[in-house]
Amino acid sequence: MEQLKNYVGGALVPSANGATLENFNPATGEAYSCLPDSDEVDVAHAVNAAEKAFPSWSITPAEERSRILLHISQLMERDLERLALAESTDQGKPVALARTVDIPRAVTNFRFFASSLMHFASEAHPMEQAAVNYTLRSPIGIAGCISPWNLPLYLFTWKIAPALASGNCVVAKPSELTPVTAFMLSSLCIEAGLPPGVLNIVHGSGAKVGQAIVAHPDVPAISFTGGTMTGRSIAQTASPMFKKLSLEMGGKNPVIIFADCNYPEMLKTTVQSSFSNQGEICLCGSRIFVERSLYKRFKRDFIDAAKSLKVGDPLDPGTNLGAVVSEAHREKILSYIALAQDEGGTILFGGRKVNPGGRCSRGWFVEPTIIEGLPYTCRTNQEEIFGPVVTLTPFDSEEEVLRYADSTQYGLAAILWTESLTRAHRVAARIHSGIVWVNCWLLRDLRTPFGGTKNSGLGREGGLEALRFFTEPKNICIKL
Ligand code: NAP
Repeated sequence: MEQLKNYVGGALVPSANGATLENFNPATGEAYSCLPDSDEVDVAHAVNAAEKAFPSWSITPAEERSRILLHISQLMERDLERLALAESTDQGKPVALARTVDIPRAVTNFRFFASSLMHFASEAHPMEQAAVNYTLRSPIGIAGCISPWNLPLYLFTWKIAPALASGNCVVAKPSELTPVTAFMLSSLCIEAGLPPGVLNIVHGSGAKVGQAIVAHPDVPAISFTGGTMTGRSIAQTASPMFKKLSLEMGGKNPVIIFADCNYPEMLKTTVQSSFSNQGEICLCGSRIFVERSLYKRFKRDFIDAAKSLKVGDPLDPGTNLGAVVSEAHREKILSYIALAQDEGGTILFGGRKVNPGGRCSRGWFVEPTIIEGLPYTCRTNQEEIFGPVVTLTPFDSEEEVLRYADSTQYGLAAILWTESLTRAHRVAARIHSGIVWVNCWLLRDLRTPFGGTKNSGLGREGGLEALRFFTEPKNICIKL
């Protein structure tokens, strides 16, 4: 089995205690590599390495930082096929998705922030003849970046790239469930000539490595993406230390379909927003609200569309849904499907495990699942399932659907379908969510603020928001 290593001080090293964790292929259910089971000792080494690298990296000219980050993106692009295959094997997603979404987006993350840093500027506030103020933005120091398993390299690089671009050194932890592409990135960083200690990647569990990064007194900023419960626990540790925090957390996103929508476009996109990546995208729409006059037609066509999706081997080019990430996660999804039935829901389609046979006969697969007949307040409609499971609910008025949509603790994304310009603006402005897609889904401009409201997030990532998060502003006032 391949042994993954930590990337500390520019070298690939095992954990100090020598312990390892098994890493599984979700499509086959087999362990196929080992990752370091690191702890606070490895995090301390990584922080030391970052501290040594910071004085030089933080004053490296922007042009040189940009050149190195661009080089990393070029190497990732060169290795796109290899990275896509690794991501699919490690996470369970169709390789076609990794090839067209995950890895290209990871490449773009590095490319985008390599160029953004060249255009990053700060404000000046002249006070007529009296004085001039200008804002100096300096890197914070060492940033802790912690990412989840659903879009492994994509979300890992979404944090690391802006942190490095703005002159910080980084101690990062990918999910223990999907460590492989972060490990591969270590080698690419070495090849690209990233100075030792600028980026350090420590593998292992959230409870040991993640917690040690968050608790370390010399890591003043934490950028986290993951579940709301974990975000809360991170905030409990970091807030009394007054750390800067960016938390991207869970969602239970509404899809609101008005009868005047562009029907074919809506149907095609709603299938994607429900089941892409096995529903394991924080931005997937899991509560589908349909205006009553369209409900029957939508229900029929949506079920037909779900029936045509192929659940199977992620390496098969015809597969739409691959494996879910772990056996425990599959059991969680199935337990929510059972709960939905207990709560009075009717399974219109799916609801069961799938055995694709062959090399995947012991993998962790779940059918795309459509449920109706549930009140909007029940647990199935309030709690994040994070799998290929959606509920359908009819509505009669805008007021009613806004009440349904805003009823959860979450406020990450909302998806609206209507051809009425005024309604689109009206509903988009009223809904409590950090992102609203109108007549589309997952259309991303990396310059826009990204993040959630309520228990979905604290702060925003993306574009200038990310560069501002990873820098400390200082106002300098000069009397004229
Ligand atoms: P998770 O269990 O919260 O884990 C996220 C990361 O935090 C992992 O690297 C995890 O390590 C680590 N971690 C766990 N406990 C920790 C602790 N006490 N201190 C510090 N780090 C800790 O989330 P997940 O199951 O990987 O991901 C699914 C969740 O992420 C869903 O709720 C989804 O909505 C959310 N998500 C949100 C966004 C967004 O942009 N808002 C994007 C993607 C996903 P281990 O995995 O090694 O334990």
